[in-house]
Amino acid sequence: MTSRPPAAASRGTGSAPRRGPGRRAAIAATAALILPALARPLAARAIAAASLAEEEGGVRLALVVGEPVGFRLFTLDNPPRVVIDLEGAPWRAGAPPPGLGPVRRIRAALNRPGVTRVVLDLEAPVAVRRAAMDASGTTLVVEIAPAPRAVFLGQAAASEVEARAEPPRPPRLPLVVLDPGHGGRDPGAIGASGTQEKRIALAAALELRRVLEAEGRCRVALTRTRDVFVPLAERVRFAQSRNAALFLSIHADALDDASVRGASVYTLAERASDPLAERVARNENRADRFAGPAFEGVTPEVARILIALVRRETLNGSARMARHAVASLRQSVVMLPNSHRFAGFVVLKAPDVPSVLVEMGFLSSRADEALLRQAAHRRKLAVAMAEAVHRYLDEASPVLTAG
Ligand code: ZN
Repeated sequence: MTSRPPAAASRGTGSAPRRGPGRRAAIAATAALILPALARPLAARAIAAASLAEEEGGVRLALVVGEPVGFRLFTLDNPPRVVIDLEGAPWRAGAPPPGLGPVRRIRAALNRPGVTRVVLDLEAPVAVRRAAMDASGTTLVVEIAPAPRAVFLGQAAASEVEARAEPPRPPRLPLVVLDPGHGGRDPGAIGASGTQEKRIALAAALELRRVLEAEGRCRVALTRTRDVFVPLAERVRFAQSRNAALFLSIHADALDDASVRGASVYTLAERASDPLAERVARNENRADRFAGPAFEGVTPEVARILIALVRRETLNGSARMARHAVASLRQSVVMLPNSHRFAGFVVLKAPDVPSVLVEMGFLSSRADEALLRQAAHRRKLAVAMAEAVHRYLDEASPVLTAG
């Protein structure tokens, strides 16, 4: 929830007086700390806490007001800023939270009797994606994201958002895309006793879906649920178009050496990924695909920088997921030495979706093949992979529980 108790929120905002407007802010922050301590109820209509957090490429300002409040939101240029006027809600949140993302600084002051003005000084133009009370009716939420100047100026001319109650949004769980390798005319590796990789991969993915769905902490989609051929690029697009939080490709390949066995986890090698990022960057239309409207109209240079940032985040996410997968699988199955490896798998090349490929074992090893044919063993693998997914999501998305 965004509506944290005022005491906790005040501690958070009060701890950063460095960026606030000096001594007055320090005093206000102290007051905010003292009031809850005295167990004196804060006036219902007051901005009791303010926080600024990253959210889907932008930031989310949450003002805890206690009850629905009338407000007016508009943008001003030169320098760019977002202005929120709140009626009858004095600022009691201590020092405003420090700037983040497109927000350089937040200021709050009495604008005229009964109207508190909160100003977001911006680094660059933004689009206001949302400005409304949250489902609980206690918190005013304003979401903004970088946007072309034209979009920003359009808003400056037109937009005044009225206070209104929004219907509660169902919680959006992150989407995990499972990708059973091969399928259809592509059987994948063939085991010593004829086991086809495509069947093992699908059975394992379906089992993993069952485990994940039973936990209910993420949504799950599969790139294929039947024995059909799906091109690699299509698997990547599948995850991208659905805004997946994670892409997990599941395989059980074979080697010439039948003595090699054990599970391993792959991520994309950074070197192999750079040319891809470059190519994507040169194409502005493609930038739209994974950046959304925020990238429209920006120059190719800016797009390239943004894509590089997204790409680096993605690689970091992939590496983190790989570490969790190795740590978790190691508890229950035999692992290949150097269990986290890097390679240029096409299927891991989504620039915006953290992706890992799990080799559950080698069908060329009689021991692995025998295990992988057993539902009980695949269940073990699925439980371990699900645990890794949950650990990854817990770290990766602190804001996903937001109403
Ligand atoms: Zn494979």
